[in-house]
Amino acid sequence: MRPSAAIEQLAIIGVGLIGGSLARALRNAGVVKTIVGGGRSEASLARARELGVIDRYELDLAAAVSGADMVVVGVPLGAMRSVFEAIAPGLRDAAIVTDVGSAKGSVVEDARAVFGEWPNFVPGHPIAGTERSGVEASFSELFQRRRVILTPLPETATAALQRVRWLWQATGAEVVEMSAAHHDEVLAATSHLPHLLAYGLVESLSRWDSSQEIFQFAAGGFRDFTRIASSDPVMWRDICLANREALSAALDRYTEDLARLAALVRSGDGQALEQVFQHAKQARDRFVAMLEP
Ligand code: NAP
Repeated sequence: MRPSAAIEQLAIIGVGLIGGSLARALRNAGVVKTIVGGGRSEASLARARELGVIDRYELDLAAAVSGADMVVVGVPLGAMRSVFEAIAPGLRDAAIVTDVGSAKGSVVEDARAVFGEWPNFVPGHPIAGTERSGVEASFSELFQRRRVILTPLPETATAALQRVRWLWQATGAEVVEMSAAHHDEVLAATSHLPHLLAYGLVESLSRWDSSQEIFQFAAGGFRDFTRIASSDPVMWRDICLANREALSAALDRYTEDLARLAALVRSGDGQALEQVFQHAKQARDRFVAMLEP
């Protein structure tokens, strides 16, 4: 099949923020004929159909993927293996399966446990999202000018990889490839650690006696820093568990640096504090400039 041919039937298992946004983006790009949703709750699938995100849905996941040439699994990491098990009997031989999970080592383990070393499985992760969840929060521009990381395995077929690359490019994303282990290290530092810190800070402050007053007088900085603590707790529990090794290493490094920073505050070392802040500001300014078109 030529990589540019439209997808005849796309199955999306887990039509939430990411699955729903992908469906919308592919439909807008005119590269998919039929979209079938699969999931666990009829109410959200019915809502997805009502919104025009999917054409129809099936609660039986093997039925949802039967006849699909492309299957995207968009469920929380803790549900990946059971979803792979449920779809396996319905997959066509030529179907390509990909996922959008935020950690890759665990998904690869789950996929291999169910499918074996199967050439048509392509692990993926769009670096795009918001703190909102569910199909109501999905929108077609979510992936535009964002990166999608694919972590192909030694057994992954080039044609399957190219097809999934093409699918993401159709949404306006830039596709990069790396190993699953490298992905998990990088994302532990840039995404999983910041989420853990934001949840931890808000939870800690909420237990202080004066928490009502603290939140009442919290300004924009607090809101900016803690926005991601409004993300879905189940999803983030799963991410922290799935990537616990790399996340623990990132946490250890950060804890050491935080202890050094605390010592500077305690000793009143203004010069050293300013140096840390200067260095951080320069790094962030460079990073923000890099993101701008
Ligand atoms: P979401 O909006 O909560 O959507 C998850 C979907 O999966 C919902 O439709 C949910 O159905 C369904 N689901 C949950 N458990 C299921 C199960 N056991 N069997 C079948 N369906 C199930 O979450 P999301 O933000 O799209 O995240 C989905 C995946 O994308 C996760 O693996 C996450 O790591 C990854 N990801 C998220 C982001 C982000 O910023 N949000 C970014 C990149 C990647 P119900 O309606 O029944 O709950």
